[in-house]
Amino acid sequence: MSLVMKFGGSSVADAERMRQVAHLARSAASQGALVVLSAAGRTTDALLVAARHAESGRIEEALAGRHALQRAHRALAEALFPEGIPSGLQQALADLDGELDLLLRGVALLQECSPRSRDAIASVGERFSTRILAAFLGAPWVDARKVLRTDATFGAAQPQPEALRTLAREHLAPHLHPGSLAVTQGFIGATSEGLTTTLGRGGSDYSASLFGAALEASEIQIWTDVEGVLTCDPRVVPGAQAIPELSFAEAAELAAFGAKVLHPATLEPAVAAGIPVTVRHTLRPEGCFTTITAHPGTGRPATALACRGPVTVLTVTSSRMLNQSGFLARLFEVFRHHRTSVDLVATAEVSVSLTVDADAPLDRLRADLEAFARVEVAEDRAIVALVGERLKATPGVTGRAFGALGDLNVEMISMGANEINLSLVVRHDEAPEALRRLHAAFFEEAP
Ligand code: ADP
Ligand code: ASP
Ligand code: MG
Repeated sequence: MSLVMKFGGSSVADAERMRQVAHLARSAASQGALVVLSAAGRTTDALLVAARHAESGRIEEALAGRHALQRAHRALAEALFPEGIPSGLQQALADLDGELDLLLRGVALLQECSPRSRDAIASVGERFSTRILAAFLGAPWVDARKVLRTDATFGAAQPQPEALRTLAREHLAPHLHPGSLAVTQGFIGATSEGLTTTLGRGGSDYSASLFGAALEASEIQIWTDVEGVLTCDPRVVPGAQAIPELSFAEAAELAAFGAKVLHPATLEPAVAAGIPVTVRHTLRPEGCFTTITAHPGTGRPATALACRGPVTVLTVTSSRMLNQSGFLARLFEVFRHHRTSVDLVATAEVSVSLTVDADAPLDRLRADLEAFARVEVAEDRAIVALVGERLKATPGVTGRAFGALGDLNVEMISMGANEINLSLVVRHDEAPEALRRLHAAFFEEAP
């Protein structure tokens, strides 16, 4: 059974790290490993900036961005091949540069960048990084667009697992016998017509999981810049601790509530196929790491904290609501109509509070809701989520959380239906402090 190893942007940001990735991949080759790469460093951001310049007709800026990316990837290849870049790689890099040039000029000419064009531009980053690594490893380069079949929802494409499985058997499996490696891209896929799509930002984790499920891999490894999933984002709580074991449900909940370390859809294919996912530090492979499985045994009542924001809270009040059947159906119909997903819901006798993403079409939602209710809107809020399989079995968690938050105002509270997520809505600018206080109470004191 093969192994899937996904390396994120920071893991392939420079030659030193690329060498480390190659070292880790070679060490795993005995099992037959598929290496799934993100674009190097901030390449995807740079590509999207170039696309925006082109869309606004600023072709010079767009092409300057393209030059900078071309130079950076050439420099990366030169550092890995001090004797000279092999001609095959030179050609591949030049072809990608030429393709990007055409795409940007096309967008600039029309001054229009559809999601479809944006995906075509964004896909160049992963193709650059994988070309370089495949050449350095001397391993086959597989175009993920031949395997990762999706629908045509550009920018957030939905994978088609059945087709993907057949295509993986055809294009990936033959390269993956014991002792061999293959390199492919995360994040990108294609429709059945061959149009390039992407799975959305951070989507390489999802790709790795999809490939792992399709190949019935023994493990899906997510290699990144932290020693596994930690008790909180270390950028907010520097003392966050490694979590050795996490359940699929906890990890999915953390990802959905903002823990950037995993793309929210990552776990789904792995769960369905029963494949363990591990999260590891590329530069510290001997350090701590997290194993995500169906039934881990964790000791503490809470496992980790996550935070998502800014979000907007809508409080919908209707005195007519009392004893009215169908009120909630009517309410949610408005959100369905505007294709707005609702995260948290808390109901009271005559009102319902809900959270939506900050970019939701507020004016239109409000107008429709005001046809039958009063609406209050609170923007710049954040959801702070305390996640743990044992929350439900631990009395007093809510009281402890409120005690820890002290004078920070909690505007909404919701216990997830699966009872492993206690979500609190606070002001967005107070969220880091809320996380620090909750972390101190739940992870730095005796359980
Ligand atoms: P990659 O480029 O490897 O995909 P990301 O930047 O997407 O890496 O994800 C890793 C980052 O996720 C970490 O550097 C960390 O700041 C952030 N992060 C947020 N929450 C957590 C958490 N609970 N545990 C670990 N990292 C987290
Ligand atoms: N390169 C893509 C992004 O930056 C996908 C990923 O890194 O997972 O969003
Ligand atoms: Mg990521």
